[in-house]
Amino acid sequence: MSDEAARLLADTARGLADHLRFHQALGTRELSVKQEYLAGPDAALRRVETAIAGCTRCKLARGRSTIVFGSGAAGTRLVLIGEGPGEEEDRQGKPFVGRAGQLLTKMLESVGITRDEVYICNIVKCRPPGNRNPEPDEIGACAPFLEGQLAAIRPGVIGALGTFAAQTLLRTREPISRLRGRLHPYGEAVLVPTFHPAFLLRNPGPEYRKQAWDDLKLMRREYDRVRGAGAG
Ligand code: URA
Repeated sequence: MSDEAARLLADTARGLADHLRFHQALGTRELSVKQEYLAGPDAALRRVETAIAGCTRCKLARGRSTIVFGSGAAGTRLVLIGEGPGEEEDRQGKPFVGRAGQLLTKMLESVGITRDEVYICNIVKCRPPGNRNPEPDEIGACAPFLEGQLAAIRPGVIGALGTFAAQTLLRTREPISRLRGRLHPYGEAVLVPTFHPAFLLRNPGPEYRKQAWDDLKLMRREYDRVRGAGAG
């Protein structure tokens, strides 16, 4: 077997193992293997979305209007992860569509990235009441779905938007001011923490804007790198 074929086989096996771990985390003990398991990121993502439909695994289910699963390109190499849906997201069923979302769109465009080419989701998929931080039981209940999304998409770069997403993904209490500005290994991907756009709206000074701009350039560089590495 050529090195390339061996690498492909290893990649496929890793993807399958991630997917099986997702079902195991949801309590599945038996799976009938159908073609769609091997059908690529769109089908894999749809399966995760089907699994979350009508979810009542945590108390956030009681106050939500919609499950905000995620949106964008399943075949992307760049996934952006926020904290949890706000009021507008809860209404529309899509992540980052309120004021913070509009700023996020501009931030991405400032480094030549469009929303259509990335995938955007949140740590928790239902709106916490009054936009409070998600609680540990809620994060735990939603974790298999985020893991499922990442296993389906297999991004090379993950942008963690804000303190909460960065700390949760990296399992640390370090402040965003110390986490941002550098790359963190995250499975097979690299994670780039940056400020949450809502924080930038509340703190419009040049200091944070300049740091966010540096983070976005870093994200762009890594996005180019992983696409170059995956091309051909
Ligand atoms: N803030 C988030 O963290 N996520 C959204 O989807 C919207 C606002």
